[in-house]
Amino acid sequence: MQYFIDVIIPIPLKKLFTYSITPSESQFLSEGMRVAVPFGKSKIYTGIVFKIHNEAPTAYEAKDIHQILDETPIVNQKQLQLWQWISNYYMCTLGDVMRAALPSAFILESETVITKNKKAIDESDLKDDEFLVYEALHHQSLLKIHDISNILDKKNVLPIIKRLIEKEAITVEEEVYEKYKPKLVRYVKLHANFSSETALQKLLDDLSRAPKQRDVVMTLFSVSAKTKKPVKVSDLSQESEASTAIIKTLIDKGILEEYHIQTDRVQYSGDDNEATKNLNTYQKSALSEIKKSFENHAVTLLHGVTSSGKTEVYVKLIEEALNNGKQALYLLPEIALTTQLVTRLQNYFGEQVAVFHSKYSSQERVEVWNHVLQNSAKAKIVLGARSSVFLPFDNLGLIVVDEEHEQSFKQFDPAPRYHARDTAVVLGHMHGAQVLLGSATPSLESYFNAQQDKYGFVELMQRYNDVLMPDIELVDIKDKLKKKRMKGHFSDRLLEEMTETLKAGHQIILFQNRRGFSPIIECKTCGHSPQCPNCDVSLTYHQYRNQLRCHYCGYHAAMLQDCMACGSQDLDNKGFGTEQIEEEVKLLFPDNKVARMDLDTTRGKYGYEKIITALEQQEIDILVGTQMLTKGLDFRNVKLVGIMNADNMLNFPDFRAHERSFQLMLQVAGRAGRTEERGKVLIQTYNPHHNILQQVSTNNYVEMFKEQMNDRYNYKYPPVFKQIKITLKHKDYNRVDAASIWFAKSLRQVFTEHVLGPESPPIARIRNQFHKNILVKIPKQQSLAKTKEAIIKINNSFFSIKDFRSVKVILNVDNF
Ligand code: ADP
Ligand code: ZN
Ligand code: ZN
Repeated sequence: MQYFIDVIIPIPLKKLFTYSITPSESQFLSEGMRVAVPFGKSKIYTGIVFKIHNEAPTAYEAKDIHQILDETPIVNQKQLQLWQWISNYYMCTLGDVMRAALPSAFILESETVITKNKKAIDESDLKDDEFLVYEALHHQSLLKIHDISNILDKKNVLPIIKRLIEKEAITVEEEVYEKYKPKLVRYVKLHANFSSETALQKLLDDLSRAPKQRDVVMTLFSVSAKTKKPVKVSDLSQESEASTAIIKTLIDKGILEEYHIQTDRVQYSGDDNEATKNLNTYQKSALSEIKKSFENHAVTLLHGVTSSGKTEVYVKLIEEALNNGKQALYLLPEIALTTQLVTRLQNYFGEQVAVFHSKYSSQERVEVWNHVLQNSAKAKIVLGARSSVFLPFDNLGLIVVDEEHEQSFKQFDPAPRYHARDTAVVLGHMHGAQVLLGSATPSLESYFNAQQDKYGFVELMQRYNDVLMPDIELVDIKDKLKKKRMKGHFSDRLLEEMTETLKAGHQIILFQNRRGFSPIIECKTCGHSPQCPNCDVSLTYHQYRNQLRCHYCGYHAAMLQDCMACGSQDLDNKGFGTEQIEEEVKLLFPDNKVARMDLDTTRGKYGYEKIITALEQQEIDILVGTQMLTKGLDFRNVKLVGIMNADNMLNFPDFRAHERSFQLMLQVAGRAGRTEERGKVLIQTYNPHHNILQQVSTNNYVEMFKEQMNDRYNYKYPPVFKQIKITLKHKDYNRVDAASIWFAKSLRQVFTEHVLGPESPPIARIRNQFHKNILVKIPKQQSLAKTKEAIIKINNSFFSIKDFRSVKVILNVDNF
């Protein structure tokens, strides 16, 4: 008999915990169900049953579970399998994966939990330990007292919690049981007392003196006769033009009866579906090549230039998967998940499209989860960001990963540090599903995989309607400066083109990959520039708020009047961000409407959407923005794109900087001229002969690929070598220094080659924690699994050293 279960608990624990169950419980329990389990002295956690078996643990006495929380599993076997893969591959615990995978509303609590207050607070008011708790709440929506003890490594944390409440940083929720509350809609019907003809007649006679109420009753009849469906209070009120107060009176009198039906929060107005578009010849042949490729490659890369109509090709594949009775997953970077695309798919597939992303509430996510779990008609297609790979698919036929090159598919913090594209490939394999990766600028690793014939490969090189690729011109700003042809950050060429574009009634996008006004404020007298007190980085000046802000920890202070070091009032701005560009544009083009799109202007659920809509509606003439602008947007009227400065992208200290710059610039360029007229792109740079810029201006992906791959071979970088980054953090520099030296030395005893570091990263201190990085490079012939095993072993011995126990170690597999 099987009377033991291994349970995953959503806190970072080293292993699974084994509990015992009674024979009667075992009848009702299966893997993937939630159970409430005791933990430690008095805690209760929600766990997921990972395995039911008959082996008692040897190291401890198994406790009995508290309660079974589900009647049927909420997590299926394939998911548990995927969780295990993620935990092994990305070197994290199953608890980490569970926390990322499950909507938090699924996690029941039986003890006090705290959550972050909605209202923003001044973080600089917080003491160290308070800050740690507050910061943890950025990663985890709620914490239990017990977690806080763990974070702070302290028993008595109540005083700290009390202080945080007083500072309005957190709120306390008590005795939260099922946190997910289905949204109920109010309906009304005529009370059963009036179901007979005579009773009804009498009622209407009685109501003749209350014509409004009589009206409501009559309307109820006509509406339900017409729709043959339950009648919502809100509809009745609208139809009869009666206030809800009148309806309430009727309910109170016992004439109408009120009842509730659970509905889904996420609803679409389901108009009739449109037929999918007829593909042009290029799209057709791409589609048939993709299908052919799927015959011997489960994963296929589609390299299709911007505006070639990739989405329509995806749509055909989705249609086919659905016709075969399968589910389809359409993965996109968070930011590209716009109403634009959602509407486009809903026009084709109506209610079968479910949307899943981080700006959704936990409740909304639970609804999508349940639809997918039940293989419901409402979630045949999931359109989602990174975390939708965690949904309980059971019959997946197709996964599309659009903009597959996007870095935001990788989660950097917290664990699991997974890459959604690579996870999707594994997920697809588990379901025997087809996986299509699509991009106009594929990542080097996917293109490499295609070259190695690991992935299939299909190209789509014609823009839809034969619109020409934009004309890309490089502007040498060094030369322009010398000839005094710059106005602020604008060259005469850019100004000319802008003026002309506006005159023709078209729109402009200006790209600058830095937000704020200027990243460095420097004293002209003594050279001092204000630094973040918590991080080793200069503070960025945000003119709009007249503040200096740290982009790493959120620290902010009022802008200085004079130098903190010498008192001089002669302060200089170095570098420039979107705010400064926006301001210059407003002065240069005072008659045009200018807007800005960056992290600062797009907070909130619909912040991003609003700007996009305004651009679509042509309420904006010139839009200044960061890379948010690049993501798969389709604007008909944008004819000119200006890249303000290509150099700071190219010079970014990262082995992928060149690849990324190429992708970013071509993607932004792709926003120009998506209809008949040819678009124009101007790239301002100090270095117009840079190979990447030449490759961008000729749209030469293949040459970029070859040249970058050469570097990757020579310097042993991915995709040629695999890579695991180990980051150590501590607030005491000496400790993290010693710890990282020990760690690297131990690694070198196992791997004689290819261990780099420890090194301080360019920003050596963030949030008061000093960082050290060690990089382990793994050649093809070296086993990845064995390498990880060795690292885990070293990591375990590391934590047995007393001095190192407080050092935080972060393992990041494929850290790029
Ligand atoms: P991509 O995803 O490759 O950048 P899109 O799929 O967004 O390109 O297509 C670009 C534009 O062309 C869109 O406005 C789309 O509606 C239109 N389009 C693409 N294919 C077709 C087609 N077969 N019929 C009609 N319009 C199409
Ligand atoms: Zn000074
Ligand atoms: Zn900082």
